[in-house]
Amino acid sequence: MNPRILVIEDNPVNRELVSDLLEAHHYSVLQASTAEEGLRVAEQQLPDLVLMDLSLPGMDGLAATRALKGGLATCHLRVVALTAHAMRGDEKLALDAGCDGYLSKPIDTRTFPGSIGEFIASFRASAPTSPKAA
Ligand code: MN
Repeated sequence: MNPRILVIEDNPVNRELVSDLLEAHHYSVLQASTAEEGLRVAEQQLPDLVLMDLSLPGMDGLAATRALKGGLATCHLRVVALTAHAMRGDEKLALDAGCDGYLSKPIDTRTFPGSIGEFIASFRASAPTSPKAA
């Protein structure tokens, strides 16, 4: 079965670009335009990877990542943050919030699918992160 990737991104152009690229590389794509919607889809679908835009209206991507990693059903999900080039320090914030990796925006369409493939391969090779003790 093709890996399923949940794209949480509020910008419709970016969301479509990322989704089209992933689908062209045989990933199954789920989409959400807000963190709240993304959390619902993540819980229902348990995707293989969550691509998380950090800058979202309402709840932001850092808070959404903490919610996923703190949820009993979703704590094992792998999250890769999409961080803006201009926002220095976003990478550290993303990792501190529990993201398993990050990619900078704007994405490079030539290297993006390969980077996603590498993330998925590395996540498969390593044991899922165990839930943090309460
Ligand atoms: Mn955004």
